[in-house]
Amino acid sequence: MRTKIVAGNWKMNKTLPEAIALIKEIDKKITPGTVEVIIAPSFVNLPEAVKLLQNSEIKVAAQNMHFAEKGAYTGEISAEMLQAIGINTVITGHSERRAYYNETDESLKLKAKKAYSAKMLNIFCVGEQLKDRKNGNHFNIVENQIKKALFELPGEAFEKIIIAYEPVWAIGTGETASPEQAQEMHAFIRKIINEKYGNEIADKIRILYGGSVKPGNAGKIFSQTDVDGGLIGGASLQADDFKAIVEAAKS
Ligand code: PEP
Repeated sequence: MRTKIVAGNWKMNKTLPEAIALIKEIDKKITPGTVEVIIAPSFVNLPEAVKLLQNSEIKVAAQNMHFAEKGAYTGEISAEMLQAIGINTVITGHSERRAYYNETDESLKLKAKKAYSAKMLNIFCVGEQLKDRKNGNHFNIVENQIKKALFELPGEAFEKIIIAYEPVWAIGTGETASPEQAQEMHAFIRKIINEKYGNEIADKIRILYGGSVKPGNAGKIFSQTDVDGGLIGGASLQADDFKAIVEAAKS
């Protein structure tokens, strides 16, 4: 039985005072219970998030990190810097970072290796563009993203990898993959992991769905056999919506 996860990706939203208010509201309203709940505020708000949630079951993640330990990488943040403030979870390969900041399979492979060596939980995002789905290339795209970034890692690394399947056409668009489309891709991802690493690892890995998950559609998506929760963008910025999505993951 895989524990479900609901992770909120706040992206570039919320100033420090706004973030404090939202974190307090989330902490007051949400009881994770059987679900792992994670929020990923922006870098500048992370220390305060860690402080506010130190006695909470809600965990804090970063939205990105660099693969190097330190050096001349202006504007970047290392795993060591995150861990020094108590962050042990990171989102890598989000489609916005792939599209706007030149994240490549190669840099994501280095980030995955770094997360593994630093013992960080890596929420690794994959997903196809609309054109790929339209021409039937979506399985190939996702397979390549996973193989290129993750398949040089040893099996034990997968204890700290969570895959987030986020079809790019469904992110922030209000358009969601149908529960059947999500299940089909999640089962495919589990299959390719099984082929490379065996049944035990494939069976254990959590695969989240992301892309316009809202209180109204979360239940159906999360009830699919191979869907182990969600990575939530817009709806994670509203405490009541985020709570409803967490509750949907419990049933
Ligand atoms: C995301 O950016 O990871 C995401 C899923 O966004 P949204 O829920 O807003 O589509």
